[in-house]
Amino acid sequence: MTGDSREMKVVPVLVPMPAERPYSYVLQEGMEAVPGSIVRVPLGPRQVAGIVWDTPVENIESKRLRQVEEIFDCPPIDETARRFVDWVAAYTLTPPGLVARLLLRAPAAFDPEPWSEGIQLTDVEPDRLTDARRRVLALASEAPAWTRSGLAHAAGVSSTVIDGLKAQGVFETVMLPPRPVVPAPDPSYALPDLMPDQMSAAQVLRDGVASDRPGVTLLDGVTGSGKTEVYFEAVAAALAKGRQVLILLPEIALTQAFLERFQDRFGAKPAEWHSDLAPRMRERVWRQAVEGTVRVVAGARSALFLPFKELGLIVVDEEHDPAYKQEDRVFYNARDMAVVRGHLGKFPVVLASATPSVESKVNAMQGRYTCVELRGRYADAALPELKAIDLRRAPPARGGFLSPALLGPIRETLDRGEQALLFLNRRGYAPLTLCRVCGHRFQCPECSAWLVEHRFRGQLVCHHCGHTEKRPDACPECGTVDHLVACGPGVERIAEEAVSHFPDARTIVLSSDLLGGTKRLRMELEAIAGGEADIVIGTQLVAKGHHFPNMTLVGIVDADLGLANGDPRAAERTFQLLSQVTGRAGRTGKKSRGLIQTYQPDHPVMRAIVSGDSSAFYEREIAERERAALPPFGRLAAIIVSADSRADAEGHARGLRRAAPDSPDIHVLGPAEAPLALVAGRHRFRLLIHGGRRSDIQTFLRAMLASGPKLRGSVRIQVDVDPQSF
Ligand code: ADP
Ligand code: ZN
Repeated sequence: MTGDSREMKVVPVLVPMPAERPYSYVLQEGMEAVPGSIVRVPLGPRQVAGIVWDTPVENIESKRLRQVEEIFDCPPIDETARRFVDWVAAYTLTPPGLVARLLLRAPAAFDPEPWSEGIQLTDVEPDRLTDARRRVLALASEAPAWTRSGLAHAAGVSSTVIDGLKAQGVFETVMLPPRPVVPAPDPSYALPDLMPDQMSAAQVLRDGVASDRPGVTLLDGVTGSGKTEVYFEAVAAALAKGRQVLILLPEIALTQAFLERFQDRFGAKPAEWHSDLAPRMRERVWRQAVEGTVRVVAGARSALFLPFKELGLIVVDEEHDPAYKQEDRVFYNARDMAVVRGHLGKFPVVLASATPSVESKVNAMQGRYTCVELRGRYADAALPELKAIDLRRAPPARGGFLSPALLGPIRETLDRGEQALLFLNRRGYAPLTLCRVCGHRFQCPECSAWLVEHRFRGQLVCHHCGHTEKRPDACPECGTVDHLVACGPGVERIAEEAVSHFPDARTIVLSSDLLGGTKRLRMELEAIAGGEADIVIGTQLVAKGHHFPNMTLVGIVDADLGLANGDPRAAERTFQLLSQVTGRAGRTGKKSRGLIQTYQPDHPVMRAIVSGDSSAFYEREIAERERAALPPFGRLAAIIVSADSRADAEGHARGLRRAAPDSPDIHVLGPAEAPLALVAGRHRFRLLIHGGRRSDIQTFLRAMLASGPKLRGSVRIQVDVDPQSF
């Protein structure tokens, strides 16, 4: 292969470190490697797993190079997955080694899964037959091989019966290959009965898969319209063609119901991939993805970096969801990178949402994406009747946050034996605590943020760095006891208010603070779906795709909350979140309502939600973005410079700004203090890079970083191309 210098074979190996390019290693005598092979190489004092790359090797004398220690017995990472790593690295300005690390996240999977011991019938006849033996033999002939305990269990006998037969030579020991993590899904297991509009939507998706037509389809349909049923048909088509499928979901750990629906359609569950997966299972899924054993993976954004053998379709469900953006080490949006992976692998990508991102809408309008719409709910289930509650005219009682216009309908809902959901996107009890006597406000010592009271735990918590302190009785400033007041509501406080009004109702608070983590959340979600709660109070966790059959009232406690932060994406986010939350109501056809408490009932977002006319909202939003040349009509990147001291952070940011090259269509804004100026004791300054739609923002950034000041002391830089908020 590459670089053959003096009989010794030199290979470039991309190691999972912040390496800008592959390092060169020498293959040992007799070793055979191809691009994509996974190898073990020394790196400093350690040994790491890396991937043989296909860039030319550096011109170094091979005598001075270190040796490849081992080539793992693993199928090579395929060409498109390697080009994908290169592409993501170049686009996000991340060293390719760090992107490769996303792909190598299952170290024990580089070795093959072990085979296990099993038994198999010989032609020896048993010397005598008991009932138990007869049962075992009858069963045993139905499959080529068994595990000892599996056969005993299936036949309902003790394993000693099997041991007895084995001693006589009726069974012999064989080695069994590893079992698939999930049985193979069957594309024609249970064909759906689609409604006419679903049928034509499914046909478009199926055609895309069948004709090997790469390209993106936006599946835009109201909540409850059956988008899942429809894209399952694309999945079926890809499976029938012998291709693997990836379905991305924003909160896979919380969507057990999704796995069951998949099973109903395909006769087996998809393999799961997310951070809560047990390590052993992760290894097996990774291995079976690269071997091609696993046919469908349903996963969180990181599943995009699984080394599939023959991927032929990606579905991104709830494509607008901010959870697809990773803002840690490699800053990427999995929705956008899914489109790239499809393009590189020449296969179709489906983006599904009831509230598509403005970016995807524009791509569909301008013909870059095919658009398929579903306008009505399945079986004509009525969408909830939506109404704004004008808090200026009908305020809640003093000290409360639930207005009479919301409390009345909650009462009626409970009286009918149905469920109500109260949504407030704020964890804890109160976002701010202050002293009524001296005005002291509790602030995080490490961040520019207020401490949030968590009353159930008796603590004040910073939601940015995790700083936690006990809630005191006395003011630390003036010493007055018992005069601290909670300002504003969080979900805990709304729960307290709900309980005071409806003491007999069963109330559940759902937020990421729930003790017991994901497992507990899953249980609570099941309990709610099973009717074991009357009032649910939740943060955005409850907005995501859950199906609560008996939920007929959704109350938005503070619809204005997300609009206040001055971010140009605030209107879009609020629109999406409120549409999703109100979409939880009435999914089984019962008459349902969504009531939206707001001080700005005339705001375009509120009007769009209440009227159900999303097109007016999108038109307006798109026009505004176009006017300001904001994405997708322009390009943005953010550089965050942080340091232990404010002066260091600011000084470095100014230095970077001076290093910006001249460009006709790209401008640098700032540096200014970042929206959170202090996080975990680090001062942060932000530069925004704003370019025209076709500007080459990556080249500009690279030039700026290369000629900017060298990193010194505690200074760190994060580059975020296509930032979430701007
Ligand atoms: P969406 O993802 O668009 O919100 P879902 O795919 O979750 O909608 O469908 C909403 C509900 O309607 C689900 O319970 C689903 O099982 C049901 N449903 C949708 N289409 C059909 C169909 N053609 N046949 C049977 N049930 C359907
Ligand atoms: Zn903090």
